[in-house]
Amino acid sequence: MPVAAIIPAAGLGVRMGPGAPKAMRELAGEPLLAHAVRSLVSTHEVDQLVVVVAADRVDDVRRLLEDGGVLAATGGRVDPSSHASQLRVVAGGSSRRESVAAGLRAVDPDTDVVLVHDAARPLVPAEVVARVVAAVRAGAPAVVPVLAVTDTIKRVRGDEVVETVDRSALRAAQTPQGFSRTALQRAHAETTSVATDDAGMVEELGLTVRVVDGHAEAFKITHAFDLAVAESVLRGRG
Ligand code: C5P
Repeated sequence: MPVAAIIPAAGLGVRMGPGAPKAMRELAGEPLLAHAVRSLVSTHEVDQLVVVVAADRVDDVRRLLEDGGVLAATGGRVDPSSHASQLRVVAGGSSRRESVAAGLRAVDPDTDVVLVHDAARPLVPAEVVARVVAAVRAGAPAVVPVLAVTDTIKRVRGDEVVETVDRSALRAAQTPQGFSRTALQRAHAETTSVATDDAGMVEELGLTVRVVDGHAEAFKITHAFDLAVAESVLRGRG
């Protein structure tokens, strides 16, 4: 069952403050995107990698991935020199949904499993990727790695609390999210919402979305503070 991974990395990351687009911000001397790609492919589960970036960065990012030794972590599984379609760098759109759709158009038609992984989650452990792939292979149309919510969650209107939400049934969704290629293609063709994740669109179709355990280290880099946390996690890994 061939596996393709789409990495949407075309966002600006305005919440990080001024500077390069988020996926190009450096963590331990390398762009977040390089870390995210390495984390994903080092599981040796991925046969095709589709990276989605802003149109003016396609050439730079292709060079980064080909020359930077990042793909060495695939153990030869994704080898840009041996087969052109194994690594594709394509231009994204103005929303995350459009960027993922552009990536999906570049996925090989014989692919069964499609992973979608945010460039903004550079440190996802291999065990999470393996759980997601295994659950899709076992027949789930869509799979989301999740974490229990630890904060108490309030629904608010302006500066007033309307309700305290029962957190026991709430989960925070991470990536990579995994899909049968047909379910993800149907979701893009048949839904229109601007879901903040891909599984949300599959839910809209009425298909079952399964959860597996996520991991604290799969956290998303959103603010400058998160980069400092990521540096510390990397130091801890030695
Ligand atoms: O903004 P946010 O952190 O939710 O973005 C999640 C991921 O989606 C990031 O890796 C970002 O680069 C990507 N994205 C994209 N195209 C957009 C907006 C976001 O590829 N237009």
